[in-house]
Amino acid sequence: MQRRYLFALSTASVLALTGVSGSALAQAYPNKVIKLQVPFAPGGTTDIIARVIADPLGKALGQSVIVENKAGGGGVVGALELSRAAPDGYTLGVATVSSTAANPAINPKIPYNTLTDFTPIINIAATPNVIAVNPSFPARNYKEFLAEIKKNPGKYSFGSSGTGSIAHLQMELYKNLSGTFITHIPYRGSGPALNDAVAGQIPIIFDNLPSALPFILQKRLIAIAVAAPQRVAAMPDVPTFKEVGLEPVNRMAYYGITAPKGIPADVVEKVSLGVKKSLEDPAVRRRIEDTGSIIIANTPEQFAAQIKAEYEVYKKVVESAKLTLE
Ligand code: GLU
Repeated sequence: MQRRYLFALSTASVLALTGVSGSALAQAYPNKVIKLQVPFAPGGTTDIIARVIADPLGKALGQSVIVENKAGGGGVVGALELSRAAPDGYTLGVATVSSTAANPAINPKIPYNTLTDFTPIINIAATPNVIAVNPSFPARNYKEFLAEIKKNPGKYSFGSSGTGSIAHLQMELYKNLSGTFITHIPYRGSGPALNDAVAGQIPIIFDNLPSALPFILQKRLIAIAVAAPQRVAAMPDVPTFKEVGLEPVNRMAYYGITAPKGIPADVVEKVSLGVKKSLEDPAVRRRIEDTGSIIIANTPEQFAAQIKAEYEVYKKVVESAKLTLE
């Protein structure tokens, strides 16, 4: 009789009666499917990294991790939705440099606080960025590219992963430092921008390397310059921005896992360990490193500090180059 009575009680009252704490509750995590939200369209680097990690992370946690794209506004639409999701570990998101640093730095109307509305969990990887052109563009290397755009201010346009994205900001910075003018065309992510660059609808793209590299290797796009600590093994002839005298543009992007603020500490720990374990698999590592990316796999505190530092860098970039969204 007593047992039946216990069954009739809600989980919360049973926990209260038996003195089981919230942390014991988290031990049950995860007991349903986890959503990993991507704040950009399919086909971009955010989507690629999410899909590389979702499967092994699901295995490590013992639950499926499904990727959901929520594109728009250079990562802002997805990040806003993530900030408003329940902080229970069942909605995680990919934190990108665009949604966490670049956009918050340039957009005075940003609808979330990048430093306080999220719980950074782990930075997965730093990825190079690249300027690439359609093969019909009359340049095969950086020197020819610079000469062509200098000669023709306003003639060419470039595609980015969205307004306020790293691609937008870095390209504006590039224009500012090189004294050139190229028209900005924002997309809902690098995926659709790449489609148009490969098809020749736009002559130039600024992208993160993992998504652009397959097209570069197939010669459907020509790489002009890369933002990375050194040249990328897969394209040894392509100079870094530092080499061409543009060190401020030589910044990488990052892709990590984040959650809404207020997520229990033990859930953070489980997700962080799950990602770390996934990144120990040589096949997973190879898929990330083959794109010229560097695996980071740091602590929540280190990732939070990186986001803050990158946000400060972009605020300075916006200030010194007087960049605005208009
Ligand atoms: N450029 C974006 C970023 O690094 C990601 C682009 C995309 O995944 O479409 O934040």
